Amino acid sequence: MAKKGRVFSGARPTGRQHLGNYLGAIKNYVALQDDFECVYCIVDVHALTTVETTQDLIQNTYDMALDWLAAGIRPEESIMFVQSHVPQVMELHTYLSMVTPLGKLTDLPTFKEKVRQNESNINYGLVGYPVLMTADIVLYNTDFVPVGVDQAPHLEFSRETVRSFNYRYGKAVLKEPLMKNTEIPKVLGIDGVQKMGKSLNNHIELASNAEETQKRVMQMVTDPQRLRRNDPGNPDVCNVFSMHKIFSTKEEVAQINSDCRTAGIGCVDCKKKYAANLNANLAPFRERRDDLGKNPTAVWDILHDGAGRARVIAEETMGAVRDALQLPK
Ligand code: SF4
Repeated sequence: MAKKGRVFSGARPTGRQHLGNYLGAIKNYVALQDDFECVYCIVDVHALTTVETTQDLIQNTYDMALDWLAAGIRPEESIMFVQSHVPQVMELHTYLSMVTPLGKLTDLPTFKEKVRQNESNINYGLVGYPVLMTADIVLYNTDFVPVGVDQAPHLEFSRETVRSFNYRYGKAVLKEPLMKNTEIPKVLGIDGVQKMGKSLNNHIELASNAEETQKRVMQMVTDPQRLRRNDPGNPDVCNVFSMHKIFSTKEEVAQINSDCRTAGIGCVDCKKKYAANLNANLAPFRERRDDLGKNPTAVWDILHDGAGRARVIAEETMGAVRDALQLPK
């Protein structure tokens, strides 16, 4: 079936993926493959802007790739690769930086946020992060970028950069990517308050075993007003209930909804049910992950093959870019 265009998305190599990564990105990556030609990139160079040691970079890249594959990325159809394996992105980044006013970068709320988080390491790469991100997208002649509403300004920055470049060099050499508006659910951690994240240690890893998963689920914070088993609860403010809505059947969700409000079910049993359903949902993923993990070389081969295919597209774009720039041959 003819595809509806090319989608690009990148994510930093954060190692073993958690439920927040899955529901917020990977699940959508897998679904997009049915209709789009997908290019998925593990952006290791971006990671260098904030990490001070690279000792885990290779392992984190591998673990993330393994999780993506186990979740259903189809490497024979989609291009899955590591950013630094396509060095053309660094070249394009340099050319794009010449059409990007510095003040525009330092005014970005995301830059200000990063400065707050990395006060001791405000480097040149951090300022240019959105330019490299733009290079990532346009290098692959991307039609769509799946982003949530809060990410829309980033993409708008990329679109403006493309327009500036095309205007300066008098040709529509780079394609302006469009936003593929995507509903990105905010998945809360087991604390029930903050977004799920490794750094907060409030996450549930996809690759954990059933026992570890149940242990994490049993630590989840529920309706804070429900102090005793006999108190009626309010599922609308309970993170466990939000997860039931994703991983349990409609009938189970309806039952919990009414039982919780009448204290017909206790939080312990409710969590056990969620843990069982989550484990059942993740079982095929875990089986595939175990299988793929038996042959790490094959995973790296997939990434290298993806980089080879990505380089072909990249070189085509760069040929047109270098021509437009009238660089000496
Ligand atoms: S019974 Fe379930 S939905 Fe209700 S507060 Fe407890 S964990 Fe949440």
